[in-house]
Amino acid sequence: MSEIEENIRSVRASLPPAVELVAVSKTHPVEAIREAYRAGQRVFGENKVQEMCAKQPELPGDVRWHLIGHLQSNKVKYIVPFVEMIQSVDSAELLVKIDAAAGKVGRRIDCLLEVRIACEETKYGLEPEAALALALSEQTRRLEHVRVRGLMGMASNTPDREQVRREFSSLKALWDRLREQDPTMDVLSMGMSGDYPIAVECGSTMVRVGSRIFGARNYNV
Ligand SMILES: *Cc1c(COP(=O)(O)O)cnc(C)c1O
Repeated sequence: MSEIEENIRSVRASLPPAVELVAVSKTHPVEAIREAYRAGQRVFGENKVQEMCAKQPELPGDVRWHLIGHLQSNKVKYIVPFVEMIQSVDSAELLVKIDAAAGKVGRRIDCLLEVRIACEETKYGLEPEAALALALSEQTRRLEHVRVRGLMGMASNTPDREQVRREFSSLKALWDRLREQDPTMDVLSMGMSGDYPIAVECGSTMVRVGSRIFGARNYNV
């Protein structure tokens, strides 16, 4: 068995059955994705539109693609024909663009709202209250070709595990408030290679794991 297959199996075995594993394959070649696929993995996460569009035709049709990186509205049209979920929605305008593009290809696309929970300054993501308001707004509910399923967030990149736990717990509390208003919001995407066990303890329903499966990324290739 290849190392990637072994990693998939060991990460999978460490997760509760109800937690969805998104294998983050960004920067890794199609062959690495095939190895994960052979281990039964079907959900893959990419952070760049161009890279995802290049890999998609090379892989079996039952691969489920999740976009996890920032999406520019002019690139929405390239991914709507096949993407299963866009986890990085950070504005009402983007949601409307996705709805229009998905309408043209007759699809409905699952979306998560990306929430800024880390202390460090990050460029992307909605403030928690803004995310709640957007998820529950009349305008969002009227969109026929997107379905907001929940929230996504990234904790600070810090060795301070208590801080990471506080950040994940704050996102879980926000998601709980969302679900009080709308019980169909069933996805809470949080946890990466370095912190996914903490995220799962804090109530994550979906983890996005890259380097723990595929090894270190080399951005120069
Ligand atoms: C790269 C990335 C991940 C996975 O990171 P690892 O530390 O390699 O597991 C998860 N989520 C997002 C949004 C990412 O960009």
